[in-house]
Amino acid sequence: MKYYSTNNKSDLVSLEDAVIRGLAPDNGLYMPERILPLPASFFETLHQKAFPEIAFEVAKHLIGEDVSESDLRRIVNHTISFDAPLVKVEENIFALELFHGPTLAFKDFGARFMSQLLGHFAKKRNREVTILVATSGDTGSAVANGFLGVDGTKVVVLYPSGKVSEVQEKQFTTLGKNITALEVDGTFDDCQHLVKRAFMDNDLQSKLFLTSANSINIARLIPQSFYYFYAWSRLNRKDNVVFSVPSGNFGNLTAGLIAKRLGLPINHFVASTNVNDIVPKYLQSKEFSPRPSISTISNAMDVGNPSNFARILDLYQGDWNKITNDITGYTFSDSETQAIMKLVFQKNNYILDPHGAVGLLGLKKYLKNQNAIGVFLETAHPSKFNEVVENTIQSGLQMPEKLQVFMSGKKQTIKLDKSFAWFKEFLLNRLA
Ligand SMILES: *Cc1c(COP(=O)(O)O)cnc(C)c1O
Repeated sequence: MKYYSTNNKSDLVSLEDAVIRGLAPDNGLYMPERILPLPASFFETLHQKAFPEIAFEVAKHLIGEDVSESDLRRIVNHTISFDAPLVKVEENIFALELFHGPTLAFKDFGARFMSQLLGHFAKKRNREVTILVATSGDTGSAVANGFLGVDGTKVVVLYPSGKVSEVQEKQFTTLGKNITALEVDGTFDDCQHLVKRAFMDNDLQSKLFLTSANSINIARLIPQSFYYFYAWSRLNRKDNVVFSVPSGNFGNLTAGLIAKRLGLPINHFVASTNVNDIVPKYLQSKEFSPRPSISTISNAMDVGNPSNFARILDLYQGDWNKITNDITGYTFSDSETQAIMKLVFQKNNYILDPHGAVGLLGLKKYLKNQNAIGVFLETAHPSKFNEVVENTIQSGLQMPEKLQVFMSGKKQTIKLDKSFAWFKEFLLNRLA
């Protein structure tokens, strides 16, 4: 299967090139040339299959021409090494808990799959690949943990000093091995700028095999479709199923749309956002107007120019009527988010994180006049946002063991000013 750029459908590349490049040279996003439905027989037996088996069959259908069956099985089994349980919150409403991986957020799925796939391609090329990632918190931890110990890969995480939470920082600065954390005296934008300049530097490009692991990489998107199939297979009622996706860059929602295109009978999607409501606005008014992001308590969704929007347009050939047939968008304030966190804790004894809470708000709003089954994605463990959660529900949280292990690790970073010269020197001479 070939992959095209959303900016130029005739620029076709292999999966290997799409994964290594991340972004197409024309700044488009890669999309699979064909997304054909899986056979009916696949859906009939889905409920009997384990999660890794379901994931393998979806992966094989999508990329089975590009990776051998045994390699693909190994990659998928490594990715899906933890469960994604469907938890009933109230009648006809389920949380799909995507936070049981090593860094307790759904980004583990994409990062683990990408690390294995990239390691596989690096081995084929017999070159060590260096992955650069700028992070404001969660991406760095998922990527660093996904690549930890993967042969033929080195990860350099750049993050703004003093601007990420201690829990987040510990998750990518205590790992060692093939992971190096650079603590930049600057902002997240400065970190991102350094990474961008590295990719534009011919000298660096010729000497190192550089790639990025940001969320637009097709290898992060593909595995995110797996859990829609798994969740659907575990529902008792399969007619009129609605998924609500708390969204920022819209990777998760796009993966759901791909699952639907692969034949999964999802009736409707709800795009739930915090006050960064660029996509809900578009769904209401046809106007797509990116603007600077606003800070909220669901900060992993504070995105003012959602990067995967180009893929959504592409899936529907830009047809607003078709898009709004499948997706409804709602936006919610922090106070609404906190109110539902409190209510669900008191009434249902379920602890939401602020992102999942936005998902549940959207789901409830959509289901009001529908006889449907609703699933919302719980994208992070509440402990990752323990301050907000504890203050909101007025109750203490038990920190999961996985996080405690990180917290007891020793932070190891290299301090860096934000000049590119220093960063380049580091990459060329000091990245051991
Ligand atoms: C990244 C993230 C999101 C947003 O996902 P997108 O795919 O960017 O829409 C939601 N919740 C959490 C906890 C995240 O880390």
